[in-house]
Amino acid sequence: MRRQYCTYCNSEAITRVPERGVKLCRDHFVQFFETEIENVIERYQMLQGVRRLLIAVSGGKDSIALLHVLRKISERRGIDLVGATIDLGIEGYSEHCVEISRRHYERLGVPYLIVKLEDYGFTIDKAKKYEKSVRPVCSVCGLVKRYLLNKVALELNCDAIATGHNLVDVAQYMVANFLSGSLDALLKLRPVTRGEDLLVTRVRPFFFMHERYIELYVNILGLEYVSERCPYSMRGAEGRDMPFQEYLRTVLLELDLRYPGTLYRSVHSFVRNVLPVLERLSVRRGERVGRCAICGMPTQEEGRVCAFCKIRDILSKAN
Ligand code: SF4
Ligand code: ZN
Ligand code: ZN
Repeated sequence: MRRQYCTYCNSEAITRVPERGVKLCRDHFVQFFETEIENVIERYQMLQGVRRLLIAVSGGKDSIALLHVLRKISERRGIDLVGATIDLGIEGYSEHCVEISRRHYERLGVPYLIVKLEDYGFTIDKAKKYEKSVRPVCSVCGLVKRYLLNKVALELNCDAIATGHNLVDVAQYMVANFLSGSLDALLKLRPVTRGEDLLVTRVRPFFFMHERYIELYVNILGLEYVSERCPYSMRGAEGRDMPFQEYLRTVLLELDLRYPGTLYRSVHSFVRNVLPVLERLSVRRGERVGRCAICGMPTQEEGRVCAFCKIRDILSKAN
């Protein structure tokens, strides 16, 4: 195969970036990656007024890459960075996720907190066991992560929470919710969700970053991450066993491979052209926010119990 050269120097290119129409060597790729993230942070004013930032680290490639990039950026801007890892209690998996996250925090000198779900009376293993009578395990898991990260951010006085959702996650969510006509869900799809009441601002610096580049970044820097899948993930299932969401992700990745840059352009155009229209059209239905009678966190159901406390109550009592 013919050698390809970096657009900016004479070194050998290790990747093409069709979204930018360039080929990059190792060093220029790292520079491109970090600059791109900083530009997105600037464009969407993700860190404006932020003095202390909580970063959610699961141990996977996305959050490990984010931890490394944000450590540099927060240091330059004088922002206190604090890490939070939730030990979900998935036997044979969570221990590894916690261990890898811990090693990165310590190597980088980032203060951190490991939150054990077990301390709340249940684990994700238990949620799996009772998923038929509660709700699908991944739905419980998502809820638990959102709730606990917000709680930790409030307790630690953090002004924002950063998560590692990447371009492919965003595109998948966008198309799935278009297909089901879930406009309310689409309205939540944005690089920054400004905080209100007791809900802390959420920022997603990898919103426009393809997972391919994130993988390349961690590999170039030689960063270890959890590469095995959660045992409850359906990723990797094949043929007719493949669930809808996974099939959709595969189709989107194939589309992007055949027509490079499609996901990037689609997500950009969604944020620029579609989101403002949805915002204008949206009738904020039934958004009476009340307080949970048990934990005091905001809940849609006035005077009721929030979804986390409901699940906690059922699962902590189950044998
Ligand atoms: Fe949680 Fe595992 Fe489901 Fe991911 S695949 S949401 S870690 S239970
Ligand atoms: Zn170069
Ligand atoms: Zn509650």
